[in-house]
Amino acid sequence: MATPGRGLAKGLAVTLRTMTRRSHTAHYPEAQPALPPRSRGVIALFEENCTVCMLCARECPDWCIYIDSHKETVPPAAPGGRERSRNVLDRFAIDFALCMYCGICIEVCPFDALFWSPEFEYATEDIRELTHERDKLREWMWTVPAPPALDPAAEEPKEVAAARKAVEKAATEASS
Ligand code: SF4
Ligand code: SF4
Repeated sequence: MATPGRGLAKGLAVTLRTMTRRSHTAHYPEAQPALPPRSRGVIALFEENCTVCMLCARECPDWCIYIDSHKETVPPAAPGGRERSRNVLDRFAIDFALCMYCGICIEVCPFDALFWSPEFEYATEDIRELTHERDKLREWMWTVPAPPALDPAAEEPKEVAAARKAVEKAATEASS
């Protein structure tokens, strides 16, 4: 048979125990949380790298990436060559009211145009303001942490090698 008042005593013991523990509550915004540098705060767009391939918009499970573009004809690179067409970005927006921060868009982007920024202070009372348009997404790029340093033993990245060769070639031409 249960002792009368045993449940009450157990409950009070829990209350006493937790009363003496240090609180984990931070007084935000006076005290800023110490978040890991690569926290998933907001998505930044490096639009110079975006080729409007639409992969991110197609793979987003929430359908919250909106992209508009048009085609533009580019003159041939050499005389007698064929004209080429390329996609020009008109709109790139992410609705953070729908986004579930899964990171799929960043993972699938083949051109390194999307990045996580740890910035999280963009709460608003107007839900429409949670749709961040291209300029705002580009601004978030300034808050993206720099990538970790390369392994010293790693192969030189292609773009770095190409830039180095171009500088060396220009220096050789200038000196001859
Ligand atoms: S993080 Fe996920 S839900 Fe948010 S925009 Fe990217 S793919 Fe969509
Ligand atoms: S996957 Fe990358 S390159 Fe393609 S549309 Fe999205 S951001 Fe642009």
